[in-house]
Amino acid sequence: MPSHERGGNPLLEPRRTIAELKELRQLTSDENGAQRVAFTPRWLAARDWLRRKLGTLPVEIHTDAAGNLWTTLRGESDRALLIGGHMDSVPNGGWLDGCLNVMAGVEILRRIHAQYRGRPPVTVRLVDWADEEGARFGKSLFGSSACAGSLNMGEARGLKDKDGITLPDALKAVGVEFERVKDSGAELENAAAYLELHIEQGPVLLDLDLPLGAVLGTFGVERHAIVFHGQAAHSGSTPMNRRKDAFLAAAKMSPEIYRIAGKHGGVCTIGSCITKPGIVTSVVEECRITLDQRHLDAAALAQMLEEAKAAAARFAGEGGVRVTWERLWQIAPRPFHPELIALCDAAIEETCGISHRLPSGPLHDAAEVAGVGVPTIMMFVQSLHGISHNKIEDTKEEHLELCVQAFDRLAERTMAWIARQ
Ligand SMILES: [Zn+2]
Repeated sequence: MPSHERGGNPLLEPRRTIAELKELRQLTSDENGAQRVAFTPRWLAARDWLRRKLGTLPVEIHTDAAGNLWTTLRGESDRALLIGGHMDSVPNGGWLDGCLNVMAGVEILRRIHAQYRGRPPVTVRLVDWADEEGARFGKSLFGSSACAGSLNMGEARGLKDKDGITLPDALKAVGVEFERVKDSGAELENAAAYLELHIEQGPVLLDLDLPLGAVLGTFGVERHAIVFHGQAAHSGSTPMNRRKDAFLAAAKMSPEIYRIAGKHGGVCTIGSCITKPGIVTSVVEECRITLDQRHLDAAALAQMLEEAKAAAARFAGEGGVRVTWERLWQIAPRPFHPELIALCDAAIEETCGISHRLPSGPLHDAAEVAGVGVPTIMMFVQSLHGISHNKIEDTKEEHLELCVQAFDRLAERTMAWIARQ
């Protein structure tokens, strides 16, 4: 019998995780999907439910200064294995995004507790990050960025939801004092490794017909506005060879970014295009496009930006227009830990015979934890339809079982890895 046909640890019950996820869906979803937006009553209800699930274990549970919920099973060593996820969802969200990670973590805590009679070799901690999605205030990774110390306090202080409620006021309502949120960083003091399971939210594993993958890291992002400045002119009286057409130069960028992305193996998107004066009878005077470029490798990302800038200058020159750039946002790539990637691959292979390595396009809390130097790894499970942030988000139950098994094997291997350090 090949090793991957052996079930997982007999103390682990992946079917219980699926049943609990369905129970959570029943409690916090409606006909449009999951409604666990952070800091709202239904999110609080989801957390109360989670506490009741954990309450049967001899664990210590507390909320940190940023509203992250930590569950700790003390081990022989204070050095801690962290397992993370998020109970919050976008409005009308899927039933697995974020809470699959948390509930798999709960099952793994139960297994470790049973196997080591309440005293594992290292401390094991489950964290439910607060407001991963940023659905209400437009700023994702709130709890993990506060904990990692990278949260921009000035920017966050001024954030408001659509009803005009500020983030500090929303936090106060759930007992979190905004000015102290970075005190949560103390939680990472003994962190020796961080693991996060997540649905892929894209089609890569689906297209390869593979259930699970080891994540190499999260993409770095360069996001810019590019403005081409030409000259407005009458559409009837201006000969084609006399035009300074800002749109012509901008439009040439569209096929160019496909060439650049193809050459370097990243992704590039022009997501917005605004023309001025924007009327049917005028040559375009000004054209503003946005460019979002992502790559796992910092040097390749810088090269993609360089080539886009050179191309924009060339197209501007050809058309007799000017071009200016404005950086909107950037984040460095966050590669995960090479030894943990290898452990993740091995856990997946042992569970389903074959693994695959892939980068993550979306950011996750894991990127924040990796950013402060804690060895980090993520595991992805296939998304049906390759879709998330939608009520149709789904994963086959057999794949859910496999992911809990493989993630548990990864946790066990990582505990041994920490103990060896
Ligand atoms: Zn998520």
